[in-house]
Amino acid sequence: MVESLSFFQKVNENFDKAAKFTDYPKGLLEQIKICNSSCHFTFPIKRDDGTIETIHGWRAEHSHHNLPTKGGIRYSTLVNEDEIMALAALMTYKCAVVDIPFGGAKGGIQLNRNEYTDSELERITRRFTYELIQKNYIGPGIDVPAPDFGTSEIEMAWIFDTYLTMSPDKLDAIACVTGKPIKQNGIQGRKEATGRGVVFGLEEACSFEDDMKQVGLDPGIRGKTVIVQGFGNVGYHASKYLTETDAIVIGIAEIDGAIYHPKGIDIEKASTFRNETGSIRHYPDATFFENPNDSLELECDILIPAALENQITAANAPRIKARIIGEAANGPTTAKAHEILQQRGALIIPDTYLNAGGVTVSYFEWLRNLSHVGFGRLARRYEESAYNAMLHFIEQATGYQLSDEERGHVHGANETDIVNSGLQDTMVNAYQEIRETRAKYGREVVDCRTAAFINAIHKIAQSYMQLGIFP
Ligand code: NAD
Repeated sequence: MVESLSFFQKVNENFDKAAKFTDYPKGLLEQIKICNSSCHFTFPIKRDDGTIETIHGWRAEHSHHNLPTKGGIRYSTLVNEDEIMALAALMTYKCAVVDIPFGGAKGGIQLNRNEYTDSELERITRRFTYELIQKNYIGPGIDVPAPDFGTSEIEMAWIFDTYLTMSPDKLDAIACVTGKPIKQNGIQGRKEATGRGVVFGLEEACSFEDDMKQVGLDPGIRGKTVIVQGFGNVGYHASKYLTETDAIVIGIAEIDGAIYHPKGIDIEKASTFRNETGSIRHYPDATFFENPNDSLELECDILIPAALENQITAANAPRIKARIIGEAANGPTTAKAHEILQQRGALIIPDTYLNAGGVTVSYFEWLRNLSHVGFGRLARRYEESAYNAMLHFIEQATGYQLSDEERGHVHGANETDIVNSGLQDTMVNAYQEIRETRAKYGREVVDCRTAAFINAIHKIAQSYMQLGIFP
């Protein structure tokens, strides 16, 4: 296995491995695998000091078998065409794994956001959006971006506003981007969605006694020790919800160092400290590691890479002790590292499944925007009065009077309830399907990553067949 393959080639290698378990025509497999289109945008930007700089950005639409295509926009110095095509391909497979009817896309701008002021970032984002509009790479039924590494709801609000300004009478323009602020037609739970989905996925994976026995752990997420790499949107929310399930986050690795405490780190305290000081360095109540990667090799049950691709490689995989690798980031484990960890008996829960919470809730946001009505608005009061009437009858029949606290649990489902329920259902169902595929071919033969790819290939192939393009 060659470690020097490009990121897109590595994704394709995983695809090829899975494709051997199917018997689709070679041409169809080739069509699924290929990146349908990609565009390199360059444009000038005037910096605050008056100098002119050329900005490089990309958008790749990997698969048009479903429209719109969907995928985040990242701001990072590592952005290049190959990375964006690889991430777009992962989006295609991810959407298929969790049954979200989108094709995969990804975009990015090659920059370190810390080197730009807010007003410079706003100009860059708005100009990039203008370029996307001009080249037909954005639109509610065409291609719908979302936040990713180095971007947040603020950039999504600028994208939304720019798109809206240039299409004033388009009724559905609000669905041109997801991950928007709540007040700008966003949806409850989108910011937290990827991290929450990671926890739903891990909870499900840890619930099977036989699977846990294979990796030498007890079933259940409670009490499991966790190290998280990357304390941004995904890493923070995954840590927060893991703590709520009584897992213990003992280590957090950031770009400029790592903190570790064997009894657990107070996530809110660490997050507040980082927001106030800009770093986790000097965080009290924990041991500090100058080299963040050292912390990935510490004893723990679950390791969650939630930063960037190619973090677990042939170089550090032999020293990684975690029994479960939960891939919150996209492409964090190289193929060689995957093989090393597999041989050691670790359970790898792949990115194409585990970080799908973001696109799942983005799908809910898109649906909400197209329907122009918030989830729960129509039925919540009706449900609440129906539940109360039912309780009233039960009280009358049994003579038992509910306390105010007990009664407080009864309410109609609001947007947050519906989003979280839909997300959990999605993550549970997709994991069941991955387990079924593993069981079909044998767990020694097919790991979770290959099973997820097999499931994705079947679902995408079905879509093409329904289009009548292939027999
Ligand atoms: P983010 O920018 O909010 O956070 C990333 C964090 O990782 C930052 O705090 C950064 O300082 C840190 N980091 C960077 N390099 C590091 C290193 N070498 N070691 C340790 N920490 C490092 O980004 P995010 O949205 O949390 O995305 C993280 C990963 O999750 C990416 O791979 C992204 O593609 C993936 N992802 C994100 C979403 C989403 O909804 N945001 C959805 C699916 C997948």
